[in-house]
Amino acid sequence: MLQMAEKLLVGGRWIDGGPPLEVRNKYTRDVFATLPTARPEDVDAAIAAATDAAPVMAAMPAHRRSEILARTAALLAEYRDDVARTIAAEAGKALKWARLETDRAVATFTCAAEEAKRIHGETVPLDAVPSGEGFFGFYIRRPVGVVAAISPFNFPLNLVAHKVAPAIAAGNSIVLKPASTTPLTAVALCRFLTEAGLPPGGINLVVGPGSTVGDQLVADPRVAKITFTGSPDVGRQIMTRAGIKKVTLELGNTSPVVIAPDADLDLVAKRCAFGAFYYSGQVCISVQRIFTDRKVHEPFTERFVAATQNLVVGDPLDERTDVGPMIDIREAERIEGWVDEARQGGAQVLIGGQRNGPVYLPTVLTRVRPEMKVVAQEAFAPVASVMEYDDFEEALRAADATEYGLQAAVFTRDIGRVFQAIRRLNFGGVIINEIPTFRVDHMPYGGNRQSGVGREGVRYAIEEMTNIQMVVIRT
Ligand code: NAP
Repeated sequence: MLQMAEKLLVGGRWIDGGPPLEVRNKYTRDVFATLPTARPEDVDAAIAAATDAAPVMAAMPAHRRSEILARTAALLAEYRDDVARTIAAEAGKALKWARLETDRAVATFTCAAEEAKRIHGETVPLDAVPSGEGFFGFYIRRPVGVVAAISPFNFPLNLVAHKVAPAIAAGNSIVLKPASTTPLTAVALCRFLTEAGLPPGGINLVVGPGSTVGDQLVADPRVAKITFTGSPDVGRQIMTRAGIKKVTLELGNTSPVVIAPDADLDLVAKRCAFGAFYYSGQVCISVQRIFTDRKVHEPFTERFVAATQNLVVGDPLDERTDVGPMIDIREAERIEGWVDEARQGGAQVLIGGQRNGPVYLPTVLTRVRPEMKVVAQEAFAPVASVMEYDDFEEALRAADATEYGLQAAVFTRDIGRVFQAIRRLNFGGVIINEIPTFRVDHMPYGGNRQSGVGREGVRYAIEEMTNIQMVVIRT
């Protein structure tokens, strides 16, 4: 059984910090753990410890960094069930998906262990211009120093892994601030990293409100790089508070799915029921806006509603559960309000549309209008809207008519339509014949427009967590 020191980690020591933070089971609402929050002096000490550890991390040979990451992956795999149960309890994520998240984090760390060994630069032909004659040039990638990692509640392990693992692979030190609703999995991960041999100060953990603890990290000049995943509003604040630092922002989306008349409707319906409702739609690439060709609208909607009906809603710690609660009652009430507003505006609820405490039932809407909140804003809830179209090009335009640009999906067997979609869609990822919720952890992943800045996916995060150093030698 996983034994955890439920404390803050600063300079290799587990410390007590300030006022307690209660962590609740998101389904029963019971408090099942308490953690101290970081006071300003604790955050300061964490940044100081990371600053001291930065040269140690930078000097560590690649094979050693790789070994630490591989050992961490092994510990995550060894404690898979305990870690998944912690995620299920603190995040309200169905156990089967919490296990999947743990497996993905093992893959993320394993991939980082491999990438740590192949961070390299290249030679630059300086003599391509006359003034470069007689010089030899190459560049190398050097760690940036202290990385501040600020993570959201919805993937309390794997989105932390996407920040911490590449930062270590690149030879940086880290100060991690997890979401206040889901800090326990991060505590476990820090324990594994320490046990795996990461030196003191290599990773530091501070817990507490984003508006104070997070803001202090963002504004501190000793931090060289901020890697943030969360809401667009907080992303905007970070951008204005950061000053001159490297910043990666992974923000929201209103993920579209365009279904052409030639699509395999059984497959689309099954995949959309997963992609819209898994973890109660609280996934940045959750299926939200579905565009169906008028000719297949009815058969698709019937199949989609039937697949939704099959989902088991309930306690995330029950093995059979597909869909658990939302992160808190306020979020469930918010989406209840959005759906009621849409209903009053003429939308039709085909299934769901009901709240039971923090649980909002998987909901399918039709007859929505583009300006309704359920369509125009990030729902981040188990609600998907199906809209009809007459012309494929018009559907692509509607899918693209959003301020976001993370991932979009198209289902078609027509290669012409595939390239039309690739050209039209201004998204960080275009997924063909699979939902926009698709992600494997080594692919470049991130958004255009208001969905963010930069890319994650281990190798791409390493690029963002290193500086290019150019070397010029007179020969
Ligand atoms: P959030 O409210 O923005 O919080 C994210 C993190 O930022 C938390 O640790 C939070 O701390 C912290 N924070 C809050 N205010 C801050 C401030 N002023 N300065 C610094 N840090 C601050 O987001 P969330 O509700 O946890 O997550 C949902 C959002 O994340 C959605 O919009 C979703 O689309 C997005 N998301 C994006 C991706 C992606 O890869 N693009 C992946 C997952 C989620 P507290 O917890 O203490 O408030």
